[in-house]
Amino acid sequence: MTRRVTPVMGSLQAGKRDWIRVPMAVPTVWMATPDGLVCLDLIAVELAANGMRQGWTLTSDEARYAAVVMFRHGLTYSVIAHRIGVSGSTLKSWFPGKAVPDAEWMARPRAPRTASGQQPTLGAKCGTTQGYKRHRRRKELACALCKAAKAAANRHYRRHGTYVGAPEVVA
Ligand SMILES: [Zn+2]
Repeated sequence: MTRRVTPVMGSLQAGKRDWIRVPMAVPTVWMATPDGLVCLDLIAVELAANGMRQGWTLTSDEARYAAVVMFRHGLTYSVIAHRIGVSGSTLKSWFPGKAVPDAEWMARPRAPRTASGQQPTLGAKCGTTQGYKRHRRRKELACALCKAAKAAANRHYRRHGTYVGAPEVVA
């Protein structure tokens, strides 16, 4: 790579909140990859992962590694592509498995939050009585959708004296 800046470790940047740390015992490592051993400049990787890559480039191996680090930190596709300096389509060709979930994640509106501010349980079918029960099992506050589903089931129970036939899903 052709990095021209020399970061000062322990500087303001490194102490910044949200600074993405790349674990390193030494700044340059050999890493085994499917293509064999490659040399990575981890300081360059860390700077790039934190949006500090300006006027210098990463090797493609460093760029891939920086992308992996940023994916782990939950950064979006477009941010990662920008920080490592490759196009979105290049990034997608490197991480084909990543492309779909991340694109979905970006397209999805933010999930509603529960009263306590926590995210509804991922994977649970919220808005169902099953979702409500799952919240209870996990000792969470039920989210608004699950509360509505439970309330609908309760209304059914009061009217018919049974949960049989009660709506499972909030309309
Ligand atoms: Zn829920």
